[in-house]
Amino acid sequence: MSTSESRGSAADSTASAAVRDAARCSFFPADGQCALLVHGGAWAIPDEEVPDYKRGLRDAVAVGSKALQEGAAAIDVVASVVASMESSGCFDAGRGAVLTEDGTVELDAGIMRGSDLAWGAVGAVRRVAEPIGVARLLVVQGDGSVRLLVADGAERFAAAHGIQLVDNEVLVCEREVRRLNDLRQRTHYHTSHTFLPAEGPRGTVGCVVRDLSGALAAATSTGGTPNRPSGRVGDSPLPGCGFYATPHAAASATGWGEGIATVLLCGSATGAVEGGANVRDAVERSLSILGSRVRNPDGSPATAGMIVLDREGNGAIGYTTPRMARAVWRPGRDAIVVVE
Ligand code: ASP
Repeated sequence: MSTSESRGSAADSTASAAVRDAARCSFFPADGQCALLVHGGAWAIPDEEVPDYKRGLRDAVAVGSKALQEGAAAIDVVASVVASMESSGCFDAGRGAVLTEDGTVELDAGIMRGSDLAWGAVGAVRRVAEPIGVARLLVVQGDGSVRLLVADGAERFAAAHGIQLVDNEVLVCEREVRRLNDLRQRTHYHTSHTFLPAEGPRGTVGCVVRDLSGALAAATSTGGTPNRPSGRVGDSPLPGCGFYATPHAAASATGWGEGIATVLLCGSATGAVEGGANVRDAVERSLSILGSRVRNPDGSPATAGMIVLDREGNGAIGYTTPRMARAVWRPGRDAIVVVE
């Protein structure tokens, strides 16, 4: 990995301020008892793919808003929203996932309940269509002795708990076969390249929720970055990196996984909220830490997008990538679905 980290100098704070200025961030004040934020990845989403993204986001919001109004617990709502996106085929998750350099699908997912900090995650699973369901089982049926399962072990756990395993080929879609063939023509491909303006993975998915009781949860699911070595696991199933939830705040992130993990992006944002920052400041601050401390191989700041909710239901969405697919729902209001 060719990241370079600056050392907390004046140059660091200048770089940090520049990244902070470049971040696009929206704030959604709490309105009603519950709230739902969703993302479908942050990268240079091409215009022709925007309608698909919006459809996938709308479907996910419909699933989540219904569950929330029926009184479902936050952990169950984030799991059902993310499962909807894993099955939609639009996103880099579940059936739409990008491919490894071997042409296989390998999926990572993580979920966390804010009230008791219980989390569960799976990495590099090949035979589960909706890995967030396995991560959720680790929370709701586990006793905390195992939190993260990978590869065959995760699949055996899933099967033992009644989740049907599928052949990996079932998860491989034609669009991603074409993308992989194109990427294979290039030399020196790097996991960070997919987030640059001229490139493209598809879109990791994530959700944060405040339920009617005031409880928070976060979930993230991904097919990783395209053309990566088999067995590579990014930030998405790592708590504090691609997802995190506490009694005070919940966060889900997307972007270059090696960079996000380096600065513990979601833990940084939830920690800032717990320390008294408002959600918007927490998002801007965390993205600026990422951009100033971690560099892409060409020297440009590492980029990401994230969604954060606090315990009152105030939400913020921010990104430093060219675009981000995202949606917001609060009771009694129309959903906001944006891809720009
Ligand atoms: N963070 C994911 C990873 O690096 C990719 C993404 O968010 O698009 O695996």
